[in-house]
Amino acid sequence: MSSPSIVWFRDDLRLADNPALRAALDLGEPIIALFVLDEESDGIRALGGASLWWLHHSLASLAERLRERGAELILRRGAAGRIVRDLVADSGAGAVFWNRRYGGPERDVDAGVKSALREEGVTVASFAASLLHEPWTVTTGSGTHYSVFTPFWRACLALPAPRAPLPEPREIPGATPVPASDALDDWELLPTAPDWAAGLRETWEPGEPAARRRLKEFLDTDLPGYDSARDEPSAGATSLLSPRLRWGELSPFTVWHEAVGVDGAGRFLSELGWREFAWHTLYHAPDLATKNLRRDFDAFPWPPLDPSRLDAWQHGETGIPLVDAGMRELWHTGYMHNRVRMVTASFLIKNLLIDWRLGEEWFWDTLVDADDASNPFNWQWVAGSGADAAPYFRVFNPELQAKKFDPQGVYISQWASDAPTEPIVDLGETRKAALAAYDEVKRGS
Ligand code: FAD
Repeated sequence: MSSPSIVWFRDDLRLADNPALRAALDLGEPIIALFVLDEESDGIRALGGASLWWLHHSLASLAERLRERGAELILRRGAAGRIVRDLVADSGAGAVFWNRRYGGPERDVDAGVKSALREEGVTVASFAASLLHEPWTVTTGSGTHYSVFTPFWRACLALPAPRAPLPEPREIPGATPVPASDALDDWELLPTAPDWAAGLRETWEPGEPAARRRLKEFLDTDLPGYDSARDEPSAGATSLLSPRLRWGELSPFTVWHEAVGVDGAGRFLSELGWREFAWHTLYHAPDLATKNLRRDFDAFPWPPLDPSRLDAWQHGETGIPLVDAGMRELWHTGYMHNRVRMVTASFLIKNLLIDWRLGEEWFWDTLVDADDASNPFNWQWVAGSGADAAPYFRVFNPELQAKKFDPQGVYISQWASDAPTEPIVDLGETRKAALAAYDEVKRGS
């Protein structure tokens, strides 16, 4: 009797360049492809609404692609450690393969499963698939993690080049009997009452084939102009690959190898470097979403929350056109241009004096690319409390930013033509108040 191999899919919803899947196929046993929706394990962050929407469609696409090649995608919901072990016991699986995760709670779950299964004599192997460089391989001369991006990225570039991506398997022989699976629709990941996802449906096509098409389109048409136009929110000059990388529909190895060597790719590749930097930072600071990296910021005197201001920010009703345009783009599409993310985040923290964690939570719930590293990392970067962060006293002026990056007002009229025109705060005065609050942090440190 054969003993199947389990491939445990997580943030790697793809068939191409999937080393866990490759290893399972190489073993020659039939495959059980598994995805677990884990809302129970300690510390795992519950996914936001936009993420659940993406996940639903990406799983549907993965299931279809697996089926075409011979295997079913088995869906289970619950504490992943228990579910994987139960499935091994029930199916008689002899091996379990997965691609690594780098968040603290996820690593704890994986380490627990690995040691429990190995004790039972099951083969377990994990692989590097979602970062170009493993976090423990990029260290300073004294063996610590880099806290500044430029030397970090220089060190990455000095390492052996990222490995070549693996080809997509043509056949994936599935195990029989097929283990029981939940029905995707029963998970109710899509919003129904109300159905707020129309804008997401208009904007995105989740799944590996669409991700590959977008990569090709970006490389063919947008990459040459990327460096000069990437900061203009109406230019459509960036790759829009962030949700595809977040869900692993594309591997960074694939993106790297297809872009490297193309004229003008250096700037784009260094943005992948920021993604790496955020993940390496999370690896070393697992509570990045809740704790200031710079602990002197714990003394920041956040005033009591005025919920009406938070609400105005969330719904694009601040009366500051670029901020309102960004927040409305986010609400409609599950995405916001990077320049505008910086401006809206700076406005929340430094003009409304609202704790960055509340902004981070809103982005977590509404972004299709929200991830455990990039979202808190960038919020802390804007706040000034993070790694290689913008200094706190750098307060983006949303009006000047609009003049510079949206000079014709194209982006603002696309998203905020009917937004209020009376600002809820005075930009100059609130800036002064923010700087005074920051002085307290400085005095305390
Ligand atoms: P491109 O400009 O085409 O960049 C290519 C890829 O590089 C992106 O897809 C992304 O994977 C990576 N990248 C680019 N900039 C960054 C960055 N600053 N940090 C980390 N990776 C980067 N990005 C996320 O992927 N998830 C998030 O949850 C997220 N939250 C953010 C919150 C704030 C407050 C800010 C200021 C930025 C945030 N970013 C986040 C980073 C950045 O805004 C997005 O990655 C980018 O806008 C995605 O668009 P793109 O794919 O067209 O980017």
